[in-house]
Amino acid sequence: MRISIAHKILMIIGFTITLILGASTSLHVMELKEQTLLNMSEKADAIVSPMLSEINSLTQDNTVGSWVLKIQGITLKNILKNNTFDDLKTIYFIDQNNFIAAHPDNSKVDTLETNQVLLKQLNPKHNVIVAMEQQYVVAVPISNFQGENIGYVIVSFSDKDLALKTKSIISNAVSLFAIYLLTALIIAYIIIRRIILQPIDQLVEFSHAVTTGDLNCPINIKSQDEIGTLASGFKMMRAAVRQQINSMHEQHSLLEDTVAKRTQEYLDAKEQAEQSNQAKSRFLANMSHELRTPLNAVLGFSQLLQDSETDKNKRRYLEAISISGNSLLNVLNDILDLSKIDAGKMQLDIERVEIPKMCHELNMMFLQLSAQKDLDLQITSHPELTTPVLLDSNKVRQVLTNLISNAIKFTAQGSVKVYFDFKAHDDNSNIDIKIHVTDTGKGIPKDQQDLIFNDFEQVQGQRSSEFGGTGLGLAISLRFIKLMGGELSVISDKDKGSEFIVSLPNIELAESKNEVKHRNYPAISSYHFNPARILIVDDIPYNRDYLESFLSRWSFTVDTAINGEDALKKIEQHQPDLIIMDLKMPVMGGLEASQLIRSDDRFKHIPIIAVTASVLKDDKAQSSILTDYIISKPIHREHLIFIIAQYLD
Ligand code: ADP
Repeated sequence: MRISIAHKILMIIGFTITLILGASTSLHVMELKEQTLLNMSEKADAIVSPMLSEINSLTQDNTVGSWVLKIQGITLKNILKNNTFDDLKTIYFIDQNNFIAAHPDNSKVDTLETNQVLLKQLNPKHNVIVAMEQQYVVAVPISNFQGENIGYVIVSFSDKDLALKTKSIISNAVSLFAIYLLTALIIAYIIIRRIILQPIDQLVEFSHAVTTGDLNCPINIKSQDEIGTLASGFKMMRAAVRQQINSMHEQHSLLEDTVAKRTQEYLDAKEQAEQSNQAKSRFLANMSHELRTPLNAVLGFSQLLQDSETDKNKRRYLEAISISGNSLLNVLNDILDLSKIDAGKMQLDIERVEIPKMCHELNMMFLQLSAQKDLDLQITSHPELTTPVLLDSNKVRQVLTNLISNAIKFTAQGSVKVYFDFKAHDDNSNIDIKIHVTDTGKGIPKDQQDLIFNDFEQVQGQRSSEFGGTGLGLAISLRFIKLMGGELSVISDKDKGSEFIVSLPNIELAESKNEVKHRNYPAISSYHFNPARILIVDDIPYNRDYLESFLSRWSFTVDTAINGEDALKKIEQHQPDLIIMDLKMPVMGGLEASQLIRSDDRFKHIPIIAVTASVLKDDKAQSSILTDYIISKPIHREHLIFIIAQYLD
């Protein structure tokens, strides 16, 4: 239970007043009693004194019985009769043997009825007073004429008077006590309020104000006592808090300045980085175009020549050109991929994938390579992984192609095994896929297993003449897998082999089995077309020549234009049935030309196949609005003719 200070102080005051008043009342009562007893003794003397001279003379004739009888017969009765004291109850005489010798009631004479307590206290020299039931008894000693004690006159008085007086004293004391107590408590409360409670309330209010941040709350306590000391302590504390807050504000604004400065520096640096990044992306897009376009021509023409060349040696040279061109293209693609991912421009292209089919395709792809090294190649799916899944098939293929070609490259004998494993989620809508690529090759030293995932990093001491490579494959694979939310890790022992594990979590299952993407285009020789007019628009002469000579095997009439503007002129002269349009050209680019064609009612129905070397998604998005189909450079002939067939037939 919580008792306030005021209540505690008031309780102490109440208790003290009660104690003082109680003690003074008891003293008063004791005094009264003493006074009353003295009065009684005097009254007893006054009553007994008329008898004394008579007893004196009577005791001279020595006939004891006669004086006693006289006392009994005359004196005691008279005394009682003529008594002027209201409280006198009885009077009798006892002799030296403690027998009642004379009594107003004769029947009591010669009895030992006197109280034993009184008898024990009798004193022949002075009066003795004893309190008994409802009365006070006074024993007055009696002497004969010779001064010898011959007994006592016992006088008893009622105690009514004393009781009444005591009662009135106590009741007075109680009323006084109540008045005193009430007055004292009221005064004490007023004083406590002024001296203690109000200052404490002020201090409490002050501390609340300080807690809520108000440092200007006033304190008007001027007393010199402990509360005054406490108040000045509070004031000192406020001053200290104020000082600390001020210094905190200073620190804060200093910090804010620093943060603002740093933020500005950071923003500047970020802008600079973004600008550099954009410059890098622009450079890459341009480089992509500039390198891939001539490469396109190199690869295209070498393929064309191969088709028509009968000389064995020349065919071998052409094959070498194709192989080197393709590997150059791969390196170029790797660098572009890496830069695209780092610029945050790489996006996932999710499509339906049938894992068993992918395994089959990979098997086909690496069959010859593994057979050349006499390696046992097994690429298998999980037997229950029959439902198609939704993932970026190109990127997964690229990762697996890299892992499998590495495994074959670094394995001299034994086997290369790829195994797809999976775990279905509880609701069966998603699965976690794990692909294990295991080989029995040279393995990777423990201290280099992390390093090989870095850009351009290969195992130390590896002879490039033997294995070649750029050290980019794993770096790109890791980035691709991370982009898909997965992990790529390796377990390997030197000279015992390696196991690369691709984890792809949360892969969605595709619901329908329709619309399988065509990857295996029909053979070129299987196409037959009706005569048609095709316009090829490209600023690079070899590209135009390459396409023209490729298309010449059918009964097409091929026109060429060197840029968008030229194309518009050619269309006016001879309306084509289909346009193959390069996007990046001087004077007028493919997009602008396509836009003008689309806005002309005469020509807007003509299908436009856009050809681009750009890897930027934005370019592709824009051209997809204006053109019918986009083909990436280098152009795959099977792909191109497949698309032409879609629009011409
Ligand atoms: P690259 O194969 O072009 O050198 P990667 O990034 O694909 O680039 O691989 C980096 C290096 O990791 C390889 O050069 C090789 O040292 C090591 N490595 C990769 N796969 C294997 C493997 N299956 N067995 C042994 N070493 C491997």
